[in-house]
Amino acid sequence: MRASDIPEDFDRVLYTDEQVASRVREVAAQIDADYAGREILMVGVLNGAVMTMADLCRAMKSHMSMDWMAVSSYGAGTKSSGVVRILKDLTKDIEGRDILIVEDIIDTGLTLSYLVQNLRSRNPNSIEIMAMFRKPEAVTCPLDVKYVGFDIPNEFVVGYGLDYADKYRNLTDVATLAPHVYNS
Ligand code: 5GP
Ligand code: MG
Ligand code: MG
Repeated sequence: MRASDIPEDFDRVLYTDEQVASRVREVAAQIDADYAGREILMVGVLNGAVMTMADLCRAMKSHMSMDWMAVSSYGAGTKSSGVVRILKDLTKDIEGRDILIVEDIIDTGLTLSYLVQNLRSRNPNSIEIMAMFRKPEAVTCPLDVKYVGFDIPNEFVVGYGLDYADKYRNLTDVATLAPHVYNS
């Protein structure tokens, strides 16, 4: 669905699907250049990174394989709980591998800091991060993020995999919600 299909649910569109797609292609080219000749193990963080992973890996020319993790962070609300729990672990051994974590959005950075620390203890050859969105004003756990799609203002956004109460993941644009959505 596009924001124009249900305009009453959204306050503002930050990025259209075309803008997202074009930025994903740029980042894919950067990753290809950086990893030339190496095989990447892309680790997607469920569920938010599903769209980014699907588009990013298809825009890449490098060989890659894919694995997924699920961690708890926000629950149904819009505030970080501060507690990170692994709900689904990787299916592959990552020792000696070149890992690229694919994440939808970095808010406080808490989730990814935990994840990086956890994956590092499994002795991969390298770990880098690709985040489709980042809120620089909200970061409390500074992280070395090699690839960022867009830096955005400190607002709650939905679309392109990002949900509110598990909805709006299938919105192709990225938008902020109208106040009535939070109150209904
Ligand atoms: P952090 O641990 O960096 O504070 O938050 C990470 C997770 O919180 C993200 O992976 C995402 O699932 C969720 N999150 C943070 N900001 C937003 C936002 O603006 N919109 C949505 N839908 N989820 C967010
Ligand atoms: Mg996420
Ligand atoms: Mg969520």
